[in-house]
Amino acid sequence: MVDVLSLVPNASGVALAQWLEERGEPAYRARQILPRLWQRPVGSWDDATELPAALRRALAGALPLRRLSLSTRQVSQDGTEKFLWDLGDGEAVESVLIPEGKRRTLCISSQVGCALGCVFCATGRMGFRRNLSVAEIVCQVREVMLLDVALKPTNVVFMGMGEPLLNWEAVDGALTILNHADGVAIGARHITVSTVGILPSLAKLAQRPEQFRLALSLHAPTPELRHALMPIEKKYALPAVMEALARFRRRVTLEYVLIEGKNDALEQADQLAQLARPLGALVNLLPLHPGGAPDLSPSPRARMIAFERRLRRHGVEAVLRRSRGLDISAACGQLRVELEATLASSSRVVSSCTTTRPRPRARRTRRPTSSVPRRTTMRVESSGPTVSGALP
Ligand code: SAH
Ligand code: SF4
Repeated sequence: MVDVLSLVPNASGVALAQWLEERGEPAYRARQILPRLWQRPVGSWDDATELPAALRRALAGALPLRRLSLSTRQVSQDGTEKFLWDLGDGEAVESVLIPEGKRRTLCISSQVGCALGCVFCATGRMGFRRNLSVAEIVCQVREVMLLDVALKPTNVVFMGMGEPLLNWEAVDGALTILNHADGVAIGARHITVSTVGILPSLAKLAQRPEQFRLALSLHAPTPELRHALMPIEKKYALPAVMEALARFRRRVTLEYVLIEGKNDALEQADQLAQLARPLGALVNLLPLHPGGAPDLSPSPRARMIAFERRLRRHGVEAVLRRSRGLDISAACGQLRVELEATLASSSRVVSSCTTTRPRPRARRTRRPTSSVPRRTTMRVESSGPTVSGALP
């Protein structure tokens, strides 16, 4: 048996060709079968009705299609959707789909939990459970396509649970499958890896020829403050991380969560500008998602705007994002905190994303076509008990 969904497209092509030859099947069958992995995915070989029934049965035995089972699906009133995938071993991870005009960004997880313990992050408080495999990472995208091919993401961000660069081997393979023309075929510029800056893996990502995007979770403009917010500072200190970014060759985004009274002073905006400007980096300012850390507060709106203006005055391109999916707790690790208490079906772990998008521009935007009424706060489709909650 070959776990064909864990293979990068060239390797799955070779494995399939070999298997077809051994069975005495014509080679052209590969051209029918391979698109069923990622391009026009089927949930089971039985659904590939263009193939003879005997071949379908043989495929199911030899190259079974691994599934993530959907245990919860939530729809926010802003159109953001959250999927909780049962991994079959008592663990679960989450993906968040964020629609925005023609763009559909899927935020995926790379680990169950996270070892790095950033103080504002719910996933960090969970600790590390295990790495996801290549197939478990990419199948988050595949499963969304199986639900509805019209939901195929245009963009993928590694901003769900976990630190992708601490699971480099699997993330490396997942990037190939996501980007490859015979894989999911999402352009490299539409795939973003978010990291706190794990230097050895960052160097490996930099060596890849594709134009994958990099988001560096900075959150503090000085080593001292970063140390207080992000324990990884002890191992990979800010100056070394900034040097690595300078060598990255591609434009990077700096992620900066604004936390009231911690990192949102205008003086800190000045310090941040000193880091961002030489890199020509874009700064994404993110409101702290409530629920990530009960003892911390998001910066007040006026302060966030003043912080953004200050950066721009220094010539730094800065974008103030606004939270998405607030009513479905669509921030890193939050779903676990809420659903562990309420959903008997999700037995252990749930991950999540920080789902943010830029503030709306002046032009009119179409209201999301969510089936959820404006004042309805949350709809949960779940194999467990139904949950509904009020917006904060
Ligand atoms: N571990 C990686 C990717 C997953 S976290 C990383 O840290 O980059 C994805 C993003 O969500 C990071 O920028 C992280 O700092 C941010 N994040 C975590 N908790 C948050 C919260 N409570 N509010 C807003 N953003 C948060
Ligand atoms: Fe881990 Fe990222 Fe959360 Fe920090 S912010 S604890 S690195 S998932």
